[in-house]
Amino acid sequence: MRSFNHHNVNSVDEALALLRDYEGRASLIAGGTDLLGTLKGEILPDYPEALINIKTIPGLDHIKEDNEGLKIGALTRLIHIVRSPEVESKYVVLKEAAESVGTPEIRYMGTIGGNLCQDTRCWYYRYPHQMGGRIPCYRKGKGPCHAIKGDSRYHAIMGGKVCLAVCPSDIAIALTALDAEIMVSQTGGERVLPITDFYNTLGHILKPHEILTEIRVPQPPDNAAQAFLKFRLRESVDFAIVSAASVITMEDGICKDARIVLGAVAPTPFRALAAEEAIRGKPIDTAAAEKAAEAAVNNAKPLSMNAYKIEITKTLVKRALLSCLE
Ligand SMILES: Cc1cc2nc3c(=O)[nH]c(=O)nc-3n(C[C@H](O)[C@H](O)[C@H](O)COP(=O)(O)OP(=O)(O)OC[C@H]3O[C@@H](n4cnc5c(N)ncnc54)[C@H](O)[C@@H]3O)c2cc1C
Repeated sequence: MRSFNHHNVNSVDEALALLRDYEGRASLIAGGTDLLGTLKGEILPDYPEALINIKTIPGLDHIKEDNEGLKIGALTRLIHIVRSPEVESKYVVLKEAAESVGTPEIRYMGTIGGNLCQDTRCWYYRYPHQMGGRIPCYRKGKGPCHAIKGDSRYHAIMGGKVCLAVCPSDIAIALTALDAEIMVSQTGGERVLPITDFYNTLGHILKPHEILTEIRVPQPPDNAAQAFLKFRLRESVDFAIVSAASVITMEDGICKDARIVLGAVAPTPFRALAAEEAIRGKPIDTAAAEKAAEAAVNNAKPLSMNAYKIEITKTLVKRALLSCLE
């Protein structure tokens, strides 16, 4: 690992001032569970000259609920989300997603802000410098995407344009199903954006002088059934091969509203609008759930090695819908 300056900051303003001073040559560090790996592997396009430690900022690790919904500070550790009574009572899809992340050690150290901003797990992008040289790709400024002709078994089956790496964050999938908003601080102000605008095909859209400070989740209806399902190769610790988060509102046996979001199938959290449309206004039974599951993968364009993800996606969507009946 190369040497770098290290700054502990006491406020968001102090962190913003340093980001401005370093003009893109500094990185924020929270729990460090993702960032330190990328530094050790020397995979970042530009090695940072400084790390700005934001864990020392007081008051950014809150979980608060009011009439509008839930507010979660960016420095809240994943373990505290798993254990939060507020999250468990009304936002269970988020609890289940947080519970599925990594190992207990990762959940103790990793923050929700860091989880949402973590770098991709694409094995071409992450190929360590020490093992034979960096592999250039669109995320490092110069294509091609090696998954197109190479080993694509963990890459996108839909929605990919330039880069076919998938969004690695389980939390982002649950928060998209809950229609969350992301609060971002920059010098001179703040901006709030829907989580659907937080990612593009090359990862999150934060500018180098911005900090994610809070996540806001509107209250789902009382009768909304929620589920987060994740298929992974190792149950003990693994990123998703496919995940599905659903928030389904039922009334008298009829689906009044549905948000179904797929993870690890696209570069961003993928809202399965066709599946939602297929189920809205109808009773949910096995046949209806199967129809919605088919609709979810209508536009899938698998690569040479990842068509198997289509069947897994269908199964998770069907199971997520049927879980509403319980
Ligand atoms: C072994 C292992 C298994 C894992 N398994 C899973 C899994 O199953 N599912 C899953 O979703 N994730 C998984 N992860 C990823 C893990 O959840 C993240 O590493 C962790 O949540 C990142 O949080 P952190 O606070 O440590 O972030 P850091 O490592 O400190 O930062 C990560 C990135 O986010 C940026 N950043 C951090 N906070 C902010 C902020 N407030 N504003 C702007 N930028 C910020 C940093 O600059 C850096 O680029 C795994 C990681 C490991 C190492």
